[in-house]
Amino acid sequence: MSDDTKDAASQGINTRLAHGGYNPRDYHGFVNPPVVHASTVLFPDARTMDKRAQKYTYGTRGTPTTDALAEAIDELEGSAGTILVPSGLAAVTVPFLAFAKAGDHIMVVDSVYHPTRNFCDAMLSRLGVETEYYDPAIGAGIAGLMRPNTTIVHTEAPGSNTFEMQDIRAIADAAHARGAVVMMDNTWATPLYFKPLDFGVDISMHAATKYPSGHSDVLFGTVSANGTHWDQLREANITLGTCASPDDSYQILRGLRTMGIRLERHQQSALELAHWLEGREDVVKVLHPALPSFEGHEIWKRDFKGASGLFSFVLREPDPAQHKTRAFDFLDALKIFGLGYSWGGYESLAVMANLADRLVSKAPEGGPVIRLQIGLEDVVDLKRDLEAGFAASRAA
Ligand SMILES: *Cc1c(COP(=O)(O)O)cnc(C)c1O
Repeated sequence: MSDDTKDAASQGINTRLAHGGYNPRDYHGFVNPPVVHASTVLFPDARTMDKRAQKYTYGTRGTPTTDALAEAIDELEGSAGTILVPSGLAAVTVPFLAFAKAGDHIMVVDSVYHPTRNFCDAMLSRLGVETEYYDPAIGAGIAGLMRPNTTIVHTEAPGSNTFEMQDIRAIADAAHARGAVVMMDNTWATPLYFKPLDFGVDISMHAATKYPSGHSDVLFGTVSANGTHWDQLREANITLGTCASPDDSYQILRGLRTMGIRLERHQQSALELAHWLEGREDVVKVLHPALPSFEGHEIWKRDFKGASGLFSFVLREPDPAQHKTRAFDFLDALKIFGLGYSWGGYESLAVMANLADRLVSKAPEGGPVIRLQIGLEDVVDLKRDLEAGFAASRAA
């Protein structure tokens, strides 16, 4: 940690993003940390090796490059420690494996990122862990679903594709009263717009593939823990061997330096488009937590510092049999928005959301749900592109 860390708490977020995690004086004054490619680390003598009595011992256990990123993230999250893993999905699965055991009952929000559900249903169930999906709007009511063997409560807010907000503080309090670990997939907000540990969450996870990377070219995950849960999380990651590569770690730290201003732009453009969509005839509803019309808006306003660039809208089509055709006509007319998975990059993307996996929380009615990732392009061009989409879907 840099000499200036003590001052960091009083600094603005962009200052902290620019300087966090690494002190140039630690490496000859170079502004960025070295990319250390390493498996073997040499020890000076057998006794030091026997006791592993030096800072770095083997590549899987950290290098100056991964330390720089992990420390930068700890400063943002207010966490005791952060593990770095090779994908956002691994940032979800590793903590589940760290804290669940056979015979456990765990609670997962129904609006969860689909591959998280798949991991619980396909793999945790085989390991003897029972998953129950709960309503994102449950709040303190989650106490009524807790069982003596409930060990994990997993949250994600806003929810994937439909953006349901969760009362994280109320859920964390109820879960802690029964001794469960509280986890949150905080990818949408990043620690800039929501700090899970300040709301009682024990484990905060991120697909750094999204905004920290920012360029749709790196897969990466980070998991940050509070003091009580750090040792068990770190131990699990070392046991599993799910370490991150030095080049990717470097790229994510590089991305963090500009993430604040990128997020400001994503936020501003997405809000402008969300308001514009809300006023359109061919849109039933816009699913964006920062819109006052949105169901979870009050929670967002109370707990979050901002909104990122991902939201959805319901394209008007009363006949469910026509949902796909209508959505595909819209999507196929887009020229700037790419059709592709993931988000958080500089470029805009669109996809029709598949909500068939929901058990408790219902999909919005009135038409297909289109999810938009608003990139860094000029809003006027994005609007024109969406106009073309609406025109094509009307014509059909
Ligand atoms: C994308 C995403 C992930 C997974 O990230 P990958 O790096 O693509 O594996 C996990 N959680 C959420 C909420 C995501 O959006």
